[in-house]
Amino acid sequence: MSNLEEFRAETRRWLEANCPREMREDLRGEEDICWGGRNWKFKSEAQKLWLERMAAKGWTTPAWPKGYGGGGLSKEETKVLKSEMRRINARSPLESFGIWMLGPALLKYGTHEQKAHFLPAIVRGEIRWCQGYSEPNAGSDLASLATKCEDKGEHWLVTGQKIWTSYADESDWIFCLVRTDPKATKHNGISFLLFDMASPGVSTKPIKLISGKSPFCETFFDNVEVPKIHGDGVSAIVGEPNRGWDVAKYLLTHEREMIGGGGGGLMAGRGIGEVAVGDIGLEDGKLADPMLRAKITAAEIDGWAFLLTLERMKDEAKAGQGVGANSSMLKYYGTEMNKRRYELMMDSGGSDALEWEGKRSNDGKLAKMWLRTKANSIEGGTSEIQLNIIAKRILELPDA
Ligand SMILES: Cc1cc2nc3c(=O)[nH]c(=O)nc-3n(C[C@H](O)[C@H](O)[C@H](O)COP(=O)(O)OP(=O)(O)OC[C@H]3O[C@@H](n4cnc5c(N)ncnc54)[C@H](O)[C@@H]3O)c2cc1C
Repeated sequence: MSNLEEFRAETRRWLEANCPREMREDLRGEEDICWGGRNWKFKSEAQKLWLERMAAKGWTTPAWPKGYGGGGLSKEETKVLKSEMRRINARSPLESFGIWMLGPALLKYGTHEQKAHFLPAIVRGEIRWCQGYSEPNAGSDLASLATKCEDKGEHWLVTGQKIWTSYADESDWIFCLVRTDPKATKHNGISFLLFDMASPGVSTKPIKLISGKSPFCETFFDNVEVPKIHGDGVSAIVGEPNRGWDVAKYLLTHEREMIGGGGGGLMAGRGIGEVAVGDIGLEDGKLADPMLRAKITAAEIDGWAFLLTLERMKDEAKAGQGVGANSSMLKYYGTEMNKRRYELMMDSGGSDALEWEGKRSNDGKLAKMWLRTKANSIEGGTSEIQLNIIAKRILELPDA
């Protein structure tokens, strides 16, 4: 048996013994997701046990170094773990902006003290993070951000406003872009700052979405004092002061890869064909509507081709480095494709598709998910911005 086959056999045994039955059932909705954090209330004993067991092995972040609480697995072993989890339909034990975004940035730009302090807590789901990038006048043109951060000796003084901060009202800490040098050119005076959302002067105001949910907020900083050192030599700034743009861009490549499908969400759940068969039924063993059947077939082929491309890009990327500028291609194609997939699921429902409650839509889940996909091509940078990056950084086209 090769080492990888042995690892697969061991992993299979371990998962069989340790993944609670309840954690092998499909998520019934967003409320079943485990986000962790200091105020997190587990939805069940099984959810708690699953997180604790996976975190103890470092398998909430299988590829992170063992020294910082991760699983220390190679790329191949990580793939095996993911495929074995898929085999038993195991849920992700923890979803977190710490895992998807801040962790990779700390691994690349953080000091040893920052990694040792923050990474193990992210692995165990002890701190829930939010992302303070966008501002009312700085979205696509993010480097225009104006949140002020003044050097006051022992602490930084932060004043300003962020917007669209996902889950800010439920998060413990924020990774935040602030302007530390107002005189420098716009990309140069920015720093990447970490601080506690419970600090005096931080407040949040949830924004209600078309789907009826309020997953993000306006976030206000009114003279927030952020200690320069968070104890034990842990600097509040990641990377060099005024050089935060490098950290911010690197983090965005991980965010885009995740939104584009690298997080494994695409193609999960009920397939388009399955939804359509439920809605329209079969004729001679085939979906009764031939036009829709052709569209669904094309969409499924598209989906699998995309997943293969994603796998290839990950294989080609340097270990632990993410896919770089290619993340813009994944983000653009993955999110536009996801929108098309949900349009098709709405098509097969006909006039019932917009049901907010009832059997077809699993209590409006489908209609709400369809509305939610509209945001996929905005969050993490819009489709137009991804096309600009692809033109510039991948195709190397000249500026217009
Ligand atoms: C669900 C969701 C969650 C989010 N979560 C967070 C979060 O947690 N933290 C955070 O900081 N932000 C978050 N955002 C904000 C997101 O990053 C911004 O919405 C996004 O970057 C676009 O910025 P904007 O909304 O200011 O739009 P604008 O920048 O004002 O863009 C408006 C339109 O103009 C187009 N446009 C702008 N500039 C160009 C250009 N140069 N070329 C071509 N077209 C252009 C855009 O494509 C868009 O269609 C979230 C957004 C959504 C939808």
